[in-house]
Amino acid sequence: MSLAIDLISAINQAIKNLFKRRITLRYPEVNLDIERGYSYDPKAQVGIAGYKGRHILHLEKCTGCSLCAIACQNIANCIAMVKLDVSYPQNKKSIFPQIDYGNCVFCGFCVDACPFYALFMTNDHELSSTDKKSLIMSPLQLSIPPVKKKGLVQLEIDDRGPYHK
Ligand code: SF4
Ligand code: SF4
Repeated sequence: MSLAIDLISAINQAIKNLFKRRITLRYPEVNLDIERGYSYDPKAQVGIAGYKGRHILHLEKCTGCSLCAIACQNIANCIAMVKLDVSYPQNKKSIFPQIDYGNCVFCGFCVDACPFYALFMTNDHELSSTDKKSLIMSPLQLSIPPVKKKGLVQLEIDDRGPYHK
Protein backbone atom coordinates (compact mmCIF):
# COMPACT_ATOMS: atom_id res chain seq x y z
CA MET A 1 0.00 0.00 0.00
CA SER A 2 2.75 2.41 0.98
CA LEU A 3 4.60 1.54 -2.22
CA ALA A 4 1.54 2.52 -4.26
CA ILE A 5 1.24 5.81 -2.36
CA ASP A 6 4.93 6.58 -2.95
CA LEU A 7 4.53 5.76 -6.64
CA ILE A 8 1.50 8.00 -7.04
CA SER A 9 3.25 10.78 -5.14
CA ALA A 10 6.33 10.49 -7.40
CA ILE A 11 4.21 10.57 -10.57
CA ASN A 12 2.26 13.51 -9.19
CA GLN A 13 5.49 15.39 -8.51
CA ALA A 14 6.84 14.59 -11.99
CA ILE A 15 3.66 15.86 -13.67
CA LYS A 16 3.79 19.08 -11.66
CA ASN A 17 7.41 19.69 -12.71
CA LEU A 18 6.59 19.05 -16.37
CA PHE A 19 4.93 22.45 -16.48
CA LYS A 20 7.58 24.39 -14.61
CA ARG A 21 10.14 26.49 -16.41
CA ARG A 22 13.58 24.98 -16.61
CA ILE A 23 16.42 26.62 -14.67
CA THR A 24 19.19 24.17 -15.54
CA LEU A 25 21.30 24.88 -18.62
CA ARG A 26 22.49 22.44 -21.27
CA TYR A 27 26.10 23.22 -20.42
CA PRO A 28 28.54 23.41 -22.22
CA GLU A 29 26.43 24.13 -25.31
CA VAL A 30 24.63 26.84 -23.33
CA ASN A 31 26.38 29.10 -20.84
CA LEU A 32 25.05 31.49 -18.29
CA ASP A 33 25.77 35.07 -19.32
CA ILE A 34 27.74 36.42 -16.39
CA GLU A 35 28.31 39.98 -17.39
CA ARG A 36 31.43 41.03 -15.59
CA GLY A 37 34.13 40.01 -13.16
CA TYR A 38 34.89 41.37 -9.71
CA SER A 39 36.86 44.59 -9.53
CA TYR A 40 37.97 47.05 -6.90
CA ASP A 41 38.15 50.83 -7.05
CA PRO A 42 41.12 51.86 -4.88
CA LYS A 43 40.24 55.58 -4.93
CA ALA A 44 36.68 55.02 -3.76
CA GLN A 45 37.81 52.00 -1.69
CA VAL A 46 34.89 49.88 -2.81
CA GLY A 47 34.64 46.48 -4.37
CA ILE A 48 32.42 46.28 -7.44
CA ALA A 49 30.38 43.09 -7.43
CA GLY A 50 31.11 40.60 -10.17
CA TYR A 51 32.08 37.00 -10.84
CA LYS A 52 35.34 35.87 -9.28
CA GLY A 53 36.86 33.99 -12.17
CA ARG A 54 40.39 34.13 -13.52
CA HIS A 55 42.16 37.48 -13.43
CA ILE A 56 42.87 40.05 -16.08
CA LEU A 57 46.14 41.93 -15.78
CA HIS A 58 46.61 45.31 -17.43
CA LEU A 59 50.31 45.29 -18.17
CA GLU A 60 50.34 48.96 -19.11
CA LYS A 61 49.13 49.88 -15.59
CA CYS A 62 51.06 47.38 -13.47
CA THR A 63 53.99 48.98 -11.64
CA GLY A 64 55.46 45.72 -10.33
CA CYS A 65 54.86 46.89 -6.75
CA SER A 66 54.12 43.29 -5.65
CA LEU A 67 51.30 44.34 -3.34
CA CYS A 68 49.03 41.73 -4.94
CA ALA A 69 51.55 38.98 -4.16
CA ILE A 70 51.96 40.24 -0.58
CA ALA A 71 48.17 40.40 -0.09
CA CYS A 72 47.67 36.81 -1.19
CA GLN A 73 47.11 34.86 2.00
CA ASN A 74 47.27 31.54 0.25
CA ILE A 75 49.70 29.24 2.00
CA ALA A 76 50.98 28.07 -1.37
CA ASN A 77 51.90 31.63 -2.44
CA CYS A 78 49.99 31.44 -5.67
CA ILE A 79 51.24 34.78 -6.95
CA ALA A 80 54.84 34.92 -8.11
CA MET A 81 56.39 38.09 -9.50
CA VAL A 82 58.18 37.26 -12.73
CA LYS A 83 60.33 39.30 -15.07
CA LEU A 84 59.16 39.90 -18.60
CA ASP A 85 61.11 41.03 -21.60
CA VAL A 86 58.86 44.01 -22.14
CA SER A 87 59.24 47.68 -21.41
CA TYR A 88 56.64 49.84 -19.70
CA PRO A 89 57.59 53.26 -18.27
CA GLN A 90 55.66 52.70 -15.02
CA ASN A 91 57.32 49.34 -14.35
CA LYS A 92 61.07 49.93 -14.16
CA LYS A 93 61.96 46.35 -13.17
CA SER A 94 59.53 44.79 -15.68
CA ILE A 95 58.13 42.40 -13.07
CA PHE A 96 54.51 41.31 -13.17
CA PRO A 97 52.31 38.83 -11.29
CA GLN A 98 51.94 35.24 -12.43
CA ILE A 99 49.10 33.24 -10.86
CA ASP A 100 48.90 29.54 -10.08
CA TYR A 101 45.24 28.53 -10.43
CA GLY A 102 46.05 25.14 -8.98
CA ASN A 103 46.16 26.92 -5.62
CA CYS A 104 44.17 30.15 -6.06
CA VAL A 105 40.92 30.23 -4.09
CA PHE A 106 39.51 33.22 -6.01
CA CYS A 107 39.14 35.32 -2.87
CA GLY A 108 39.99 38.59 -4.67
CA PHE A 109 42.37 39.91 -1.96
CA CYS A 110 44.99 40.56 -4.62
CA VAL A 111 42.52 42.66 -6.61
CA ASP A 112 41.64 44.67 -3.50
CA ALA A 113 45.35 45.28 -2.87
CA CYS A 114 46.21 46.69 -6.29
CA PRO A 115 46.34 50.50 -6.07
CA PHE A 116 46.81 51.03 -9.81
CA TYR A 117 43.70 49.49 -11.42
CA ALA A 118 45.94 46.85 -12.97
CA LEU A 119 44.42 43.62 -11.65
CA PHE A 120 40.78 42.60 -11.83
CA MET A 121 38.84 39.37 -12.10
CA THR A 122 36.85 38.12 -15.09
CA ASN A 123 33.83 35.91 -15.63
CA ASP A 124 36.03 33.10 -16.99
CA HIS A 125 35.41 30.01 -14.88
CA GLU A 126 36.46 27.26 -17.28
CA LEU A 127 39.95 26.58 -15.99
CA SER A 128 39.98 22.82 -15.50
CA SER A 129 42.99 20.92 -16.75
CA THR A 130 44.63 17.51 -16.39
CA ASP A 131 48.03 19.18 -16.28
CA LYS A 132 48.84 21.19 -13.14
CA LYS A 133 51.53 23.19 -14.91
CA SER A 134 49.04 24.57 -17.39
CA LEU A 135 47.16 26.12 -14.46
CA ILE A 136 50.02 28.54 -13.93
CA MET A 137 49.18 31.60 -16.00
CA SER A 138 51.98 33.95 -16.97
CA PRO A 139 51.48 37.74 -16.93
CA LEU A 140 51.11 37.67 -20.70
CA GLN A 141 48.40 35.01 -20.50
CA LEU A 142 46.67 37.00 -17.77
CA SER A 143 46.71 40.09 -19.95
CA ILE A 144 44.52 38.46 -22.61
CA PRO A 145 40.79 39.00 -22.03
CA PRO A 146 38.69 35.81 -21.98
CA VAL A 147 36.96 34.85 -25.21
CA LYS A 148 33.27 35.67 -25.24
CA LYS A 149 31.46 32.33 -25.33
CA LYS A 150 28.71 31.31 -27.73
CA GLY A 151 25.26 30.26 -26.58
CA LEU A 152 25.07 32.73 -23.70
CA VAL A 153 21.75 33.10 -21.94
CA GLN A 154 20.63 35.35 -19.15
CA LEU A 155 18.44 34.11 -16.34
CA GLU A 156 15.15 35.89 -15.96
CA ILE A 157 13.12 36.04 -12.78
CA ASP A 158 9.38 35.91 -12.32
CA ASP A 159 7.15 35.07 -9.37
CA ARG A 160 8.08 31.40 -9.76
CA GLY A 161 11.80 32.18 -9.42
CA PRO A 162 14.73 32.25 -11.89
CA TYR A 163 14.35 30.60 -15.30
CA HIS A 164 15.67 30.79 -18.83
CA LYS A 165 13.73 30.57 -22.05
S1 SF4 B 1 42.35 35.49 -5.67
FE1 SF4 B 1 43.07 35.15 -3.55
S2 SF4 B 1 44.12 33.17 -3.59
FE2 SF4 B 1 43.92 33.86 -5.73
S3 SF4 B 1 45.81 34.92 -6.20
FE3 SF4 B 1 44.36 36.48 -5.50
S4 SF4 B 1 44.72 36.65 -3.28
FE4 SF4 B 1 45.69 34.75 -3.96
S1 SF4 C 1 49.00 43.99 -10.37
FE1 SF4 C 1 48.80 45.83 -9.12
S2 SF4 C 1 49.44 45.21 -7.05
FE2 SF4 C 1 50.17 43.64 -8.50
S3 SF4 C 1 52.26 44.26 -8.99
FE3 SF4 C 1 50.92 45.13 -10.56
S4 SF4 C 1 50.42 47.19 -9.82
FE4 SF4 C 1 51.25 46.07 -8.08
